[in-house]
Order: sequence, then structure tokens, then C-alpha cells
Amino acid sequence: MKKLVIVGGGGAGLTAALAAKKTASDLDITIIGCEEFSYSPCALPFVLGKEIDGFDKIATRFSDICKANKITFIQEEAVSIDEKKKTLRTKSREVPFDSLIISTGGYAVIPPIKGANLQNIYTLYRISDVEKINNAVKGAKTAVVVGGGAIGIEGAAALKHLGLKVTLVEGLEYVLCRFFGTDFLDVIENKIKSEGIDIVKGKNIEEILGDKKVRAVRVAGTEIPADLVIMATGVRSSIKLVEGTGIEVAGAIKVDERLETNIKGIYAAGDCSVTKSPLTGKYTPSLLGTTAVREGNIAGINAAGGNAIFEGVLNAMVVKIFDLEVGRVGFTEKDAAAEGIEVVVGKAKTFTKAEYFPGAKPIEVKLLFNAANEQLIGAEVIGEGGVVGKIDVLALAVSKKLSVGELTKLEYCYTPPLAPSHNGIVQAAENAHRKIMRLKERAKRTS
Ligand SMILES: Cc1cc2nc3c(=O)[nH]c(=O)nc-3n(C[C@H](O)[C@H](O)[C@H](O)COP(=O)(O)OP(=O)(O)OC[C@H]3O[C@@H](n4cnc5c(N)ncnc54)[C@H](O)[C@@H]3O)c2cc1C
Repeated sequence: MKKLVIVGGGGAGLTAALAAKKTASDLDITIIGCEEFSYSPCALPFVLGKEIDGFDKIATRFSDICKANKITFIQEEAVSIDEKKKTLRTKSREVPFDSLIISTGGYAVIPPIKGANLQNIYTLYRISDVEKINNAVKGAKTAVVVGGGAIGIEGAAALKHLGLKVTLVEGLEYVLCRFFGTDFLDVIENKIKSEGIDIVKGKNIEEILGDKKVRAVRVAGTEIPADLVIMATGVRSSIKLVEGTGIEVAGAIKVDERLETNIKGIYAAGDCSVTKSPLTGKYTPSLLGTTAVREGNIAGINAAGGNAIFEGVLNAMVVKIFDLEVGRVGFTEKDAAAEGIEVVVGKAKTFTKAEYFPGAKPIEVKLLFNAANEQLIGAEVIGEGGVVGKIDVLALAVSKKLSVGELTKLEYCYTPPLAPSHNGIVQAAENAHRKIMRLKERAKRTS
């Protein structure tokens, strides 16, 4: 019986195991993982903020999942790989494999800031982090969250839900600025501030102050009081396991479109790996749960003898900021400029249901088209509902390289209590189409 070994049982590893089982039911599958429970880290901020009632709602024992699916589970750390012998070592044993999937995830990074080793400074990455933050919150009044990415914003919102005075510190000019254009970022920041979270941005932390325990964070000479600090300062791929092997890395494990590394029979998926963007053809980090699951599925099929292709990452993501939903996929204007691509932007403001229907909320769609070939290359959607469905459609549209003309003809559904008669994607495409037509006419006149 052929043996598939999977290291790491997160979104990528567990999905890979289940996909492999479906592809070849007689495969002998072993998951080697450090943790006792399977859970989605994406749910942690909501457990912290008590929107989800406890860890038992999000975590399932690995041993139960594996038993139900006839998969062997070894709760140990994998420490080395011998790719020639086709074996993997844990501290206590050597495990042979015919194929191997590495899905070791990532780890939270704390930059070398003076005072970062004080007590009550945490990352927000694992259940154990949230347990520690839960303890620190008792009796705390103030908190600083460092890092204005999605994890930082969700962490800040969670602490606000718990009644703390929260300051979000971001070194760049905007929170979430890697993911959205500045027009949407103003709306996002205004929402965060209107919910009572202070934002300090464009300035880096100089020092974390305190005796044993943190007391304040100093940013550009100003001391911000903090009984606790969450450092949401980035995530890196866990690639220690492949050190000393011939497996190629570029910050993360490089894989091809079958998610195979440069070593035959060894695959990688999820946060520990990196695949190419269909927009640029370049290796592009993702570090998203959706990417981990999609990659896990493809790696599992291929490691079990199937043949599935991963079409790349467009980094479709959505974040809920109190009652505001913000989503994006593909390029921002900044990304396009970095690739030397001139864009035409189409925008539309519509509603989540017919405007007259009780409970209708505004929703705004922004589409980015490559001015040279009129293809959709990026999209952003912001509103108080309905964002996910639009981003999913737009992710497909970007990946299929749909043109502005094709998007103006998109078929959609309508009923007053659920959707307006005029669709935001179509209207934004029409807006861009008119701009492109005007540009073409102007070019004709001047030629
Ligand atoms: C707070 C937070 C919120 C997030 N929110 C979202 C979101 O809303 N949407 C989204 O798309 N993404 C989100 N993400 C990102 C998402 O959680 C990750 O991209 C996803 O979990 C990665 O899955 P993975 O399987 O690659 O890695 P992980 O889930 O990190 O799993 C890796 C596993 O491998 C184990 N492991 C590592 N090394 C070894 C070893 N040597 N031996 C044995 N086991 C090992 C680890 O213990 C871990 O269990 C969020 C992340 C965090 C932290």
C-alpha cells in the first residue's frame, strides 16, 4: 500500500488528507502535527471578542477526525526530511513515505522593538495566544494593537468588544493599505474610528515601555497607555523543516502548478508555500486560509496519484470591520503601477437590496481594467452586506480574464428583498466602459 505523509494538519494539511483519501481510498495516509486540535485561526479574533462562545465551538480533536476518516495521526513535531531515502524524522521515530505534503503553515513575527520582551505582549495566531490574552484582559483598561492588517483590525475590534480603550498603530500611511486603494481606505479608517478605536498611523513604534509588565507604547515621542499589546506585525512561512534539504525556497517553499516542489513526490501547500499569480506569472505570497484550502485540495489529489492544476493566487479576501464588509481581489492601483500597467477604474454605488426595501444598505463596487487590453485585473467592494458574493464573482472574472465589455453583459438575479434590479458589478463595468470609449475617441482625434 502506498504511503502518503502530511506534515501539519491546518487548513492545507487536513484538506490535503481528505482530498487524497477521495482520490485513492486505499492510500495509507499519516498526518504528523504538533497540535491536539484542528481549528481555523481565522476564527480566533471572534472567540477573543466573545462573538463565538468558546474554543470548543471552533476546535475538533485531530484524533477524532482522523479516526473517522481512517487516517493515522501522530502528534509530534517533524524535525527533518531525507528526500533521497524518502523518510521523515520526528523526535521519536522515522516515518517512510512514497509521497509527502509539507503544510507547516507560518508563524507570527515580532520585529526587534525595544521592550518587546515585556509581559502582556502577545501575538494573535494560535489558541494558546488567545488564552493568554483572555487572562491579560481581566482588569485591563487599555490596549495597543500594533499592525493595521486584517489580523490587527480584527484583534482591535475584539478588544473593543470587550470594553477596552484600544489604539491601533500602523507604520504605513493607511491601515490595510496593501489591499485597497486610498478612496476605500478612508472609508475603512473612518469606520474604525467611529467605533471608538484610535488610529495612529504613518509612524513606527520607538519603544514598548514598562517595568516587568507593559505600561505604554511610545510612538513618535507620544506615550500611548497599554495594559496589554497585541503585535499583529506580520506572518512568515514555516520552512525550518526543509532546511538542509534540496527543496527550493524563496521565503516560502516554491511549488509548481501541481503544487509539487522541485523534488519529485514532495508537495507543499498553504502558508509554508508560495505559488504564482496568474496576473504577473511571479511567485506571490498569499498567507490566506482560502489559499491554504484550495492548495491543500490540489496537493492532496496529486500526491495521491491524480492530476490537478492550481491556477494561482489572486488573493481574494474579505474583512468584517464591525458592520462594514470590505473585500478585494487581484491588483490595486498601486500593484498595477508597480507592474507598469495603466488602469481604467469603473465605480458604482448601489444597494444590497432594492433601494426602497426596508434594511437596504449602500454597497460600492470598484473595478480595475488594464487600459491596454480592457481585461479586469482587480476589484474592491465595500458595504454593509453582500460583499462576499460579489468578490467571489469578481475573482472568477479576474481569473478568466473577462473584459470590460463582457462584464457589462453579466447575467445576474434580482428580487427586491435580496438584490437591486441594477447590479453594482455591471454598473461599475459600464462606468469603466464609457471611460474607455472616451479615451479611444480622444486617441482617434489626436492621431
Ligand atoms: C488571527 C487570524 C485570522 C485570520 N483570518 C483569516 C481570514 O479571515 N481569511 C483567510 O483567508 N485567512 C485568514 N487567516 C490566515 C489563515 O488562518 C491561514 O492562511 C491558514 O490557517 C493557513 O493554513 P495552513 O494549513 O497553511 O497553516 P496552519 O493553519 O498554520 O497549520 C499548520 C500546522 O502545521 C503544524 N506544524 C508546523 N510545523 C510543524 C512540524 N515541523 N511538525 C508537525 N507539525 C507542524 C502547526 O502546528 C499547525 O498546526 C487568519 C490567520 C490568523 C492568525
